[in-house]
Amino acid sequence: MSYDLVIVANRLPVDRVELPDGTKGWRTSPGGLVTAIEPVMRANHGIWIGWPGGIDEELEPFESDGLELAPMSMSAEDITEFYEGFSNGTLWPLYHDLVAKPEFHREWWDAYVRVNRRFAEKAASLAAENATVWVHDYQLQLVPQMLRDLRPDLRIGFYLHIPFPPAELFQQLPWRRQILEGLLGADLVGFQLPGAAQNFVRLVRQRVGHKTHRDLIYLPDGRTVRAAAFPISIDAAGFEEMARSASVVERVEEIREALGRPRKVFLGVDRLDYTKGIYARLRAFAELMGEGHIDVEDAVFIQVAVPSREQVEQYRILRDEIERLVGRINGDHGRIGRPAVHYLHSSYPREEMAAMYRAADVMVVTPYRDGMNLVAKEYVACRYDDDGALVLSEFAGAADELRQAWLVNPYDINGMKSALLEAYRADDKEVSRRMRAMRKQVTQHDVKAWAASFMTGLSDVGGGHVKDV
Ligand code: UDP
Repeated sequence: MSYDLVIVANRLPVDRVELPDGTKGWRTSPGGLVTAIEPVMRANHGIWIGWPGGIDEELEPFESDGLELAPMSMSAEDITEFYEGFSNGTLWPLYHDLVAKPEFHREWWDAYVRVNRRFAEKAASLAAENATVWVHDYQLQLVPQMLRDLRPDLRIGFYLHIPFPPAELFQQLPWRRQILEGLLGADLVGFQLPGAAQNFVRLVRQRVGHKTHRDLIYLPDGRTVRAAAFPISIDAAGFEEMARSASVVERVEEIREALGRPRKVFLGVDRLDYTKGIYARLRAFAELMGEGHIDVEDAVFIQVAVPSREQVEQYRILRDEIERLVGRINGDHGRIGRPAVHYLHSSYPREEMAAMYRAADVMVVTPYRDGMNLVAKEYVACRYDDDGALVLSEFAGAADELRQAWLVNPYDINGMKSALLEAYRADDKEVSRRMRAMRKQVTQHDVKAWAASFMTGLSDVGGGHVKDV
């Protein structure tokens, strides 16, 4: 069987579940990426290649909710060296401005090459003649060129969901040239922000020596590669609809009731990751309480910290630090029945997320560096009454579009305190003026528009045969 569109991503968009009859089955995970890509896949006879989770499982391609999926198996060694090692221990911190120190290990790199090759081979075996292949994210940057070597007939797109660092940082990578050459196998390389695309083009000019003009790179074999920004988004209408549903409206009331009906609810929702700035934001909130600007009878902070990469040591250390801080804040400022911070180390379904977004008066998103930050956009999509204040880091990709948020530098604790206080004290008129403008942006640029514009960009570069949806 061969396919006209092949999506290649580290993970398949499904989770393993137990079905009512006791057998194991699959459920499509409700992420934004699936929502965006599903219609394109259906219109183009597509298949999605990725890891389904699990160790050493050789599974045949299967269908889930009408999506065709091709599982890639991973050994325990692949997971340690390719996924936790090179992807999350080397590239993740390097691409996020060295918020943590990247580790460079030659055996991790060897695993990265090995696993990327297996993904490329799988894509080559499933793609129809002249098919389109769309490769996703930092785990698979070598796939485009490996695939082109195997199948020069294909049209290949690559999209990086995380930031792409400035040349000064990227240059530390011992395998910098191989990564750049890997990406140059694509016809179109997409980034979240224009600055990232410019970083890439500059590096290609300086390190690989190819000629470039604006967003185009000219290869010696006559091929042209385009590097451009396609800021990702969310299913804004889907979030709003969910936020308006009777069950969510009811749940919002339950949450506020359970909190003891404080006047203001602050909310943070993040994977427990050192890029997210959770510690600094909680400190800022605690200082405002300590200085008497915010009273525990009046306001509360809910921090959702989704468990993440717990096998990586830096993540375990971070968890300990944050949990110690939460304990200290509650010890210093809490009263019986009134903790200052509700800390939830857990992951919630989208409905519960929508209810939390609706229950929160001030949403606090303060990453040191973030490719986009979907949480900020989801909050905006759920605030259909044009209420709710967003405090947003300048270093989140979302800050490029959500200019009317209270923008902060997360390294500046005093600045963050002022912004939190302003958002907390802002009058309704000011809050809704800002929210209205942000809602316009998010509803007009949703994830379907994102996928469509990438696919159009891809067919333009190579001469067009991807169907519109
Ligand atoms: N999310 C979720 N349940 C949770 C917390 C988060 O489903 O308990 C979702 C959230 O709605 C968002 C995504 O996880 O869609 C996080 O994306 P974001 O871009 O903010 O950060 P990332 O984790 O990709 O770095």
